[in-house]
Amino acid sequence: MKTLYFDNNATTMVAPEVLEEMLPFFSEQYGNPSSMHRFGGQVGKHLTLARDRVAKGLGCEPDEVIFTACGTESDNTAFFAATMAQPGKKHIVTTKVEHPAVLNVAQRLERHGYDVTYLGTDSQGRLDMDELRDSLRDDTALVSIMYANNETGVIYPMPEIAEIVKARGILLHTDAVQAVGKVPFKLSELPVDYLALSGHKLHAPKGVGALYVRRGSPFRTFMLGGHQEHGRRAGTENTTGIVALGKAVELATQHIEAENTQVRALRDRLEQGLIKAIPDTRLNGHPDERLPNTSNISFKYVEGEAILLMMDQHGICASSGSACTSGSLEPSHVLRAMGVPFTYAHGSIRYSLSRYNTDAEVDTILEAMPPLIERLRELSPFKKDQENEPPACTC
Ligand SMILES: *Cc1c(COP(=O)(O)O)cnc(C)c1O
Repeated sequence: MKTLYFDNNATTMVAPEVLEEMLPFFSEQYGNPSSMHRFGGQVGKHLTLARDRVAKGLGCEPDEVIFTACGTESDNTAFFAATMAQPGKKHIVTTKVEHPAVLNVAQRLERHGYDVTYLGTDSQGRLDMDELRDSLRDDTALVSIMYANNETGVIYPMPEIAEIVKARGILLHTDAVQAVGKVPFKLSELPVDYLALSGHKLHAPKGVGALYVRRGSPFRTFMLGGHQEHGRRAGTENTTGIVALGKAVELATQHIEAENTQVRALRDRLEQGLIKAIPDTRLNGHPDERLPNTSNISFKYVEGEAILLMMDQHGICASSGSACTSGSLEPSHVLRAMGVPFTYAHGSIRYSLSRYNTDAEVDTILEAMPPLIERLRELSPFKKDQENEPPACTC
C-alpha cells in the first residue's frame, strides 16, 4: 500500500538533493573541522557554506547563526541566554499555545521562582496585542511567542509583536520551527533577538537545528565544553546534519513561492472538499492568517485517535489533536486555549502538506474520509446532549 504522507508538521522527508549533499560527510569527509590539518579543515569550509546558506535564507548575518541539535535545544538556549544574562528580571511572557519545547521550559522557570504570563487566544487562535502590551513589566526578562502554530498553522503578527516588545526594551524570542521554509524571512528588518528553527521540519534530517542570535543581543552558552560555534555551542559539530540544513534552507527559499501557491491550493482543495462532503465539520484556526500547508479540521462526535487508526488502514498519515493519556482523553492544549467545544476538539485531525504531495493523493483522501467518518459516527459513544462534557476514554 502506498503511503500518503500528510504529517509534515511532525517531520518531513529528507529532500533527495539534501541527502546527496550530506552523503560524503558520512564517508570520506569524516574529518573534524576543529583539527589543524587540511583533511579536517576542508570540512570546516562546508560548515561555513552551510552557515552562509542559512543566513541568506533568514536574511541575517552568518555570525548570527548557531547550529544546534534540534528546535528544542534552540528554544531552550534562548530562554537560558535571556534569563542568565538578566538575573534580576524574574518575569516571562509566553502563550498558552506554544510547543512543549517552550511551555515546559517556562514551567521549569516557574518552579524556580519566575512569574510567567501565558497569553490566551481568541476562538480562531489569534493573540490580543493589547493583552500582550499590558502583560509587559519592568522585570520582564523575555517574551517568547511562536511564529506559527504547529497544530493549527495560525501565524502570529511578529512585526507588530516585535514593535510592542522592543518599545519596552525587552528581549524577544520566536519559535519559528514551523515557519522557516513556509514564509519568507528578513531578520535584518525584524527586531527579534532569538529565533529557533529545526532541520527535520524542512526536509533536512532529524538531529540538527539552529538558533539565530541577533548581533548585540545577550547570549549565554547552554552547552559548555569546547570552542565550537565560536564558543557559543560546544560539542563536535554534526557535520552531516549542518551541511544538510544549509542545503535544505537554500532549497526551501527557492520553493517558498510554490509553497504559497501550489501547496496552498492543494491544502485548500483538501480542506474545502472535506468540509463540503462531511456534515458537522469545522476548521480550527484563522482561515487566512495561517501557514499555507496546514489544515486542522474537527469532525464532531468522533474521536481523533479512532479516525487516525482508520486513516492508517488507507495508508494516510496525519495527526490528531487529542492524546489518550492515563485513561482520559485530553484534547490538545492549543484547541482548549481556543475554546473549541469538546465534541469538536476530540475529533480534530491535522493535515500538514509538503511540496511532495500530489493532486492524486488529495483525491484519495477526499474519497476515503466521508465513509470513514460516517462509519465512526455510527459507532460513536458521543451523544448530542453531551456538548460540553468530556467523554470517557474509549481507546
Ligand atoms: C517540531 C517543533 C519543535 C521541536 O523541534 P525538534 O527539532 O523536534 O526538537 C519546536 N517547536 C515547534 C513549533 C515545532 O513544531
